[in-house]
Amino acid sequence: MRKVRPVIRGVRGAPDILPAQVGRWQRVEVETRRILKNYGYQEIRTPVFERTELFVRGIGGGTDIVEKQMYSFEDRGHESLTLRPEGTAPVIRAYLEHRLFTKGDLCKVYYIGPMFRHERPQAGRFRQFHQIGAEALGVGDPAVDAEMLDLLSHLFATLGVDGWQLHLNSIGDDACRPVFLDRFTRYMAGKVERLCPDCRVRLKRNPLRILDCKVEGCRRIVARAPSPLESLCEDCEVHFRRLQELLQLLKIDYSVNERLVRGLDYYTRTTFEFVNPGLGAQNAIAGGGRYDLLVGEMGGPPTPGIGFAIGVERLLLSLPREGPSEEWVGVFAATLGKEAFELGLRIVQDLRRQGLRATLDMEGRSLKSQMRLAHKERYRYTLILGDEELKAGVATMKDMAQGVQERVPLQEVVHRLVRHESRGKAQAGRD
Ligand SMILES: [Zn+2]
Ligand SMILES: [Zn+2]
Repeated sequence: MRKVRPVIRGVRGAPDILPAQVGRWQRVEVETRRILKNYGYQEIRTPVFERTELFVRGIGGGTDIVEKQMYSFEDRGHESLTLRPEGTAPVIRAYLEHRLFTKGDLCKVYYIGPMFRHERPQAGRFRQFHQIGAEALGVGDPAVDAEMLDLLSHLFATLGVDGWQLHLNSIGDDACRPVFLDRFTRYMAGKVERLCPDCRVRLKRNPLRILDCKVEGCRRIVARAPSPLESLCEDCEVHFRRLQELLQLLKIDYSVNERLVRGLDYYTRTTFEFVNPGLGAQNAIAGGGRYDLLVGEMGGPPTPGIGFAIGVERLLLSLPREGPSEEWVGVFAATLGKEAFELGLRIVQDLRRQGLRATLDMEGRSLKSQMRLAHKERYRYTLILGDEELKAGVATMKDMAQGVQERVPLQEVVHRLVRHESRGKAQAGRD
């Protein structure tokens, strides 16, 4: 083995996804796209960078993301740009810029792709990470919320996520939130000294977030604090009650978690999280909520909306391990000599054009080690083309799974293989 010492390494927190791992990613992406499509969502692809002000306005100036985590830079035209730390603000920008709201009332879109946040490297936190997210814009009815939660629970069941739980809450709207905040800050008034330093800042800037502080002292204070549910106005209460009725109708298990507020400022009414208790402290695999005021705050017409984001890295940690594929698929042409190689190359080309997985050796291996390789890579058929075969105008076709072989006239080889392989599960890569 040659010693390889890479001169330049990748950036910490921005891992490579190697060929041996990518199968799991692709399976998640394929299943997710299929299910989102079945629920009426269409894909939207926005750029990975945007004007910095989009995120400051869309996420909120007081949040950790905007204050501590954005990858912002000045480009050559002296404009401040930011690598997207999340997907909702770009989707709403595109929704407004391209006037998608004029094309009908309910607009359902999804995105899949990398996001960027400058996190302190720790377990389960990446600086480039991946999200699958969706937004349903234009309708505020709780049926939209219920459909989205049904979609997610169907997706997690399909992927085989073990033991997930849905946590649900309502944090009110601009009519009742001030009532809650007033009660909450009055409750907190005598307890400021006992809050953690972060929560003391939150109390002034974003008191709701104290509710989900993980520091033990804060949790004890919060345990007896007033809950947002107790302050809901009539409309918010009807919305939350109807959502729960629909979830029961659809047989979606959930539990109400009065402390669930999520990290972002813009949520109104419904907030939710899908957690996998097996993952430890960072156990949310998906989360989201309703944001009925956000589109208006970003300069659009008043438009209700709701969205979710799935953290793909954490989702993958929640999936069952997969063994190596047991499937025998495709054709390996094992050739000996220049003439046989050229014949093999044309046969392989033909097979590939007819949709089959096919290959041949280009490293001058012996016939024996070509057979070994075909077995190791689980090709269903090996086509042996040697001197003897060429002279007789045939190929030896070996079924690697069953261990039987036969001699087939050269002009019938491709036809025969295509027929066999399409009877089996041959059509590799045809997703
Ligand atoms: Zn705290
Ligand atoms: Zn309300």
